[in-house]
Amino acid sequence: LDILAQSDPIVAEGIQHELQRQRDHLELIASENFTSAAVMAAQGSVLTNKYAEGLPRKRYYGGCEFIDTLEQLAIDRAKELFGAAHANVQPHSGAQANFAVFLALLEPGDTIMGMDLSHGGHLTHGSPVNVSGKWFKACHYGVSQDSERLDYDQILELAKQHQPKLIVCGYSAYSRIIEFDKFRAIADEVGAYLLADIAHIAGLVASGHHPSPISYCDVVTTTTHKTLRGPRGGLILTRDPDLGKKFDKAVFPGSQGGPLEHVIAGKAVAFGEALKPEFKAYSRQVIENAQALATQLQKRGLKIVSGGTDNHVMLVDLRSVGMTGKQADKLVSEVNITANKNTVPFDPESPFVTSGLRLGSPAMTTRGMGTTEFTEIGEIIADRLIKPEDEAVAQSCRQRIQSLCEAFPLYPHLTAKVPA
Ligand code: PLP
Repeated sequence: LDILAQSDPIVAEGIQHELQRQRDHLELIASENFTSAAVMAAQGSVLTNKYAEGLPRKRYYGGCEFIDTLEQLAIDRAKELFGAAHANVQPHSGAQANFAVFLALLEPGDTIMGMDLSHGGHLTHGSPVNVSGKWFKACHYGVSQDSERLDYDQILELAKQHQPKLIVCGYSAYSRIIEFDKFRAIADEVGAYLLADIAHIAGLVASGHHPSPISYCDVVTTTTHKTLRGPRGGLILTRDPDLGKKFDKAVFPGSQGGPLEHVIAGKAVAFGEALKPEFKAYSRQVIENAQALATQLQKRGLKIVSGGTDNHVMLVDLRSVGMTGKQADKLVSEVNITANKNTVPFDPESPFVTSGLRLGSPAMTTRGMGTTEFTEIGEIIADRLIKPEDEAVAQSCRQRIQSLCEAFPLYPHLTAKVPA
């Protein structure tokens, strides 16, 4: 950073401020994490200079001999981690990975079926504002109103009615186990391809803490930066080598140009980390911490959608304390908690207001926190939301958060050069 500070102090200062912000805040956005210093070192390397269109040993550019080794390493580690026959590590993001799958398997006008955005699905699963909803006929399933969980009978009925060519399972805000075998049976019944988008739960799948979709789905996509704790990016996996070739072509030249080889090296590092026993322990802790947080919030009278969590994420239904997601998001952010407002299933509020707050445990678990700290985080959030007008409570929340952040330092090898 010293070099950057000399050549472009404005950018260097922005980065320093962001480092300080990450250090001082409780990061509870369920889709965020802190990569290792090794992942960041790979990303901030000379690999950013290299064009490498194509695949290892089949490139359109010279000088790729070392790039080939690194990309092949990322591919091999991804295959080992998820038990896949084929991996493409080039998608720039989760959205790009999903788009490449659609390009490989569908024609414009085909029908796809995914979870409704307002029930926990993702924009790329057929939302009208996304290409997936503009180019394809999208139909949506949701969770059941009673249990707030997937209702596989209802999904089967919808599939029979709409006859989708592709069904998407995997979500952005669903806290329960996904039964991929049941989705396979539904897809078989209507002759659809099955895509599991495990962007959120990839780390839990890789470490054996969530059932794996690989043997049930035609294709699996994921991001690499959430529970998997790698650099920002996407990944496509399949057990079918013939489909794998189609996905390779759909990524390049179908929808991307030169791969980001510095990011791919970061993915290789992250996959290597995820193959270690420590990552299993980390993932276990992510789940235990989320459960400790959910339990504490429930004890204080806050409703958790579906009554709890089996993974890293939960949705707080704020109607239980007469508040909207927008209000709660603002209140927690004022005491240095970063989270996001989120619709809850059957939400009466608009997506800009919402009735929910989405919370997740991956990032603060990476900082070393355990169930004791997550129970305290539950107490802090409840104190803040239950007494929103009380400035003394707010002040005490800020102090308790500062103590937590100081006890679990982030990136101690990096020196912060801006005042806290
Ligand atoms: N799929 C799911 C289920 C997600 O939750 C997300 C991101 O939040 C994505 C895809 C898209 O990932 P990206 O933001 O990398 O495009």
